[in-house]
Amino acid sequence: MNIFYYDVAIPIPIRETFTYECKESIQVGSRVLVEFRKKKVVGHIVKAVSKKPNFYTIQISEILDEEPIFKSNDIDILFWLADYYQHPIGEVFDTFCPPTLRKPVKRNIHSRNIQSEYKAFSNDKKVTLNKEQVESLEILNNLDGFDPCLLYGVTGSGKTEIYLRLTDTYLTKGKSVLILVPEISLTPQLEDRFVSRFGDNIGIYHSKKTAKQRYDIWERAQSGELKIVIGTRSAVLCPLNELGVIIVDEEHDQSYKQHEGFRFSARDLSIKRAQVEAIPIVLGTATPSLQTLRLVQEKKYKEAKLLKRANGFKPPGFITLDINDSQLESGIAKESLDAITNTLKENKQVLIFINRRGFSPLYECSSCRWIAECSSCDARLVFHHGLNRLICHRCDSAYGVPKKCPACNSSSLNLQGSGTERIELFLENYFEGTTIIRLDQDTTKKKGSLKEILEMVHKSESAILVGTQMLAKGHDFPRVELGIILNCDSGITSPDINSLEKISQLLIQVSGRVGRKENNGKVIIQTRYPEDKNLLELRSGDYLNFALNNLKQKKELRHPPYSAIALLRTTSPLAKHNINFLHQVNKSAKLKSDMSIIGPIPSIISKSRGNFRHHSIIQASSKIDLNKLIKNIIVLAGSWKETKKVKWYFDIDPIDYN
Ligand SMILES: [Zn+2]
Ligand SMILES: [Zn+2]
Repeated sequence: MNIFYYDVAIPIPIRETFTYECKESIQVGSRVLVEFRKKKVVGHIVKAVSKKPNFYTIQISEILDEEPIFKSNDIDILFWLADYYQHPIGEVFDTFCPPTLRKPVKRNIHSRNIQSEYKAFSNDKKVTLNKEQVESLEILNNLDGFDPCLLYGVTGSGKTEIYLRLTDTYLTKGKSVLILVPEISLTPQLEDRFVSRFGDNIGIYHSKKTAKQRYDIWERAQSGELKIVIGTRSAVLCPLNELGVIIVDEEHDQSYKQHEGFRFSARDLSIKRAQVEAIPIVLGTATPSLQTLRLVQEKKYKEAKLLKRANGFKPPGFITLDINDSQLESGIAKESLDAITNTLKENKQVLIFINRRGFSPLYECSSCRWIAECSSCDARLVFHHGLNRLICHRCDSAYGVPKKCPACNSSSLNLQGSGTERIELFLENYFEGTTIIRLDQDTTKKKGSLKEILEMVHKSESAILVGTQMLAKGHDFPRVELGIILNCDSGITSPDINSLEKISQLLIQVSGRVGRKENNGKVIIQTRYPEDKNLLELRSGDYLNFALNNLKQKKELRHPPYSAIALLRTTSPLAKHNINFLHQVNKSAKLKSDMSIIGPIPSIISKSRGNFRHHSIIQASSKIDLNKLIKNIIVLAGSWKETKKVKWYFDIDPIDYN
């Protein structure tokens, strides 16, 4: 009797696969039920083993799929992911398996060859393209094979119209299209545009959809019934049949990087997918990442440009407002308040950006300088007025608000500084009767609340919008004519290697929300560093020029994208355990002359949920070298006693250095 052997990936935090035996032949990419540590678990067949292993193997308990759920291309990509991010292979497979199929259930396979009709509604085609759009579309329509292309389009330049036309091109060829957005909140407006162009047979795939909805999209995409899928990170490997092109909207957006658990970049993964499937990929943005700009410069990526807004206007530049000698009211300068008054008089809307939610970020005693801090994190507590609680933004713990100072018993306790909530309350008083709309994590928690807020913005005439980064992302607010940026100074002065890239993108994105309908938009930056070289350079609103200069410096300094970086992070209840472990890494890792390890460094947030945090910055001149070095460290660390006392992980291509 024939016995077959297979390597199975099991969703556990171990970087290996396990060999099982089976009396039947199974296709690679199928799910099976296997016994592992006395439990039945769902695993994925990743490889057929040709020879009988020289160790004991257990029988596979059940074959769950008649047809593999992952094709051979997918398996190549998943192995690349596990290797590049040095993440356990079983967890990688699990991440890209729809939640329903993580359970031991059989699939209900859709009947194949469903003919679905897609036709662009002709009434929408009445939109005539301008010259730039025609030229860009021409470039994109002619991409062939693995052919990445940047679509650089200033805000309001009509990128979405280009996406729609490009999609039409591929549908006509019988191909399907995957469109990625960085955040769930951006799916509805794109969905609306696609539905009104192509009808409602469009799949929306993201983590707020139920497991059942996601599974349904997944099966319909694989069967070929769905030809358009719009989604976030989790949709990158959506198994669209006959995939023709991938469109990555807002490619620069840091939300494409998962910041917990499996820290992969969905943007980079989608590029890998395009490469493996040999198809074009379009990276759309008003503020290209330095990584993408470098590859355009080196002619590895093509480029299409939309430099003018579709209505012919240019996005506004910035006015810097020196606040060193200003009296601020809840963080807002007198000049800014006057500008708001004028804008409201003209029945227009104002957008106020502040990178901080809650009422006040600091609750302190004016007698002894005691400050309210979280007992398990190195974090100051933020006062939330609506909740009447002090909240830790690291671990979400809520504390009562003491009436007397716990240190000196004085009752002179004060709230310092402003967040969105305080500004909202202040504006409600100052501009009585004006609609004030707050957009942040706290006001959008409830399902459907974001949609309600956006509808309110569109319904209102004069209004003030107050919000965090959420305000800066891709939304279209046609009535906003004035933007005010309250605290970008920390971004300008931050020592992080990528802070300039982040802050320049943020400022340009905020200004992109302003003055979209008419040509008299204005953006004020309140700053204590009005002479800052970078602020002066950005003032014209010319992102590309700024970014190219930034890129030149990166090249001279050999910083990413001209080198590769990983953070090695450790956490433990005792700081010395972190330090000992990271010192051991320094002692043992084999570094070539172009590699370096800087650390141990206490992380900026040095304590979180009761654990101390430290990290080392590992740099190499290429991604391949970095990958080798990391593998070397992982092998070495397996035998150290220091390793057992810490939690540790690598963050490859980190975005967050805190
Ligand atoms: Zn005190
Ligand atoms: Zn905390």
